Amino acid sequence: MNDPLGALAPRLAALRARDRYRRPRLRDGAPGAEVVVDGRRLLAFASNDYLGLAAHPEVRAAFVRAAEEAGVGAGAAHLLGGHSRHHQRLEAALADFVGQPRALLFSTGYMANLGVVSALAGRGDTVLEDRLDHASLIDGARLSGARLRRYRHADVEHLERLLATAAGTPLVATDGVFSMDGDLAPLDRILPLARRHSAWLLVDEAHALGVVGPEGRGSLAHFGLDADGVLVMGTLGKALGTFGAFVAGPETAVEWLVQAARSYIFTTALPPAVAAAAHAALDIARRDEERRERLRELVARFRRGAAQLGLPLMPSETPIQPLLVGDDARAVALSRALEAAGIWVPPVRPPAVPEGQARLRITFNAHHRPAHVDRLLAALEAAWPCA
Ligand SMILES: *Cc1c(COP(=O)(O)O)cnc(C)c1O
Repeated sequence: MNDPLGALAPRLAALRARDRYRRPRLRDGAPGAEVVVDGRRLLAFASNDYLGLAAHPEVRAAFVRAAEEAGVGAGAAHLLGGHSRHHQRLEAALADFVGQPRALLFSTGYMANLGVVSALAGRGDTVLEDRLDHASLIDGARLSGARLRRYRHADVEHLERLLATAAGTPLVATDGVFSMDGDLAPLDRILPLARRHSAWLLVDEAHALGVVGPEGRGSLAHFGLDADGVLVMGTLGKALGTFGAFVAGPETAVEWLVQAARSYIFTTALPPAVAAAAHAALDIARRDEERRERLRELVARFRRGAAQLGLPLMPSETPIQPLLVGDDARAVALSRALEAAGIWVPPVRPPAVPEGQARLRITFNAHHRPAHVDRLLAALEAAWPCA
């Protein structure tokens, strides 16, 4: 007898047995240095609100003002009356920020990547992606029907070999800053290579915008690259502290997305008040270099201290500072030990990272103070290696 519901129980049990079971933790209050998790106050190194803008007074005020004027929901998809002046203003500001002719808002970054990859690549084409690319880029390639080929992490020679035999129009997609590793893609080598092969280049700036490069303009700006012809995807839910995403690029490419990106067309526009809040956050992110400076100092302090303790740091200069643990059960145990000491760092396990590379994903934000870093280091010293 077919029992689809009954078939799930052993699958759940198998995840539990392998330390792969995940559940959301209940958080009260706004993201900050300390948060209340499952009723208990913890010092947290877990959020992507790198600049600490999610609860910033100016961002909140912009949100409330726009909600009072425009309501909470957009009411419709962009093409059916949901496109407000708040969206339009934000699109113009984002395009200017990343130095592209035009930007198009999507309701989430996941949807932006699905939309852009599946609109630009199709059957007969080749999508080339870094092995560590975000799941949404991988899923976009699968949805497109193009052939997906994955090159070894940051291995430009491997990418070049795959490009040499790519069928149809090639599309190269990479994270700018890798979400679980924190390192930067070698865009200074990837961009000329993509141009030489007349390939699209899509750079996912989710963890780079606001954080990396002059004014926080991202990894392309960090390398000082002329990004003419490049497609830039960015999210608003990380350093910009709000919600939503965008794709920016050449006018014609963005116009094509309006016509063809199904995750743009067939979904409700993000709330106009969220767009207004993101606009306020973008203003702060651009002008407040001190937040980025504070982050850099926290990262440097952590790396110095961790190196002294002999902890396995990864080659990252960004606020994402993972500690590679390897074994899933050990990563979970370590996270629990830190939590017992009042510190919250989530473990990250496969499939979010490759097999055998479970880790603690430590992230810093502008709310943290040097003393918080020192507390984390002391707790790690006591808990490591937690075999
Ligand atoms: C978070 C993330 C996304 C998805 O963005 P959302 O707006 O959260 O859906 C896409 N790419 C990368 C690299 C990310 O880290």
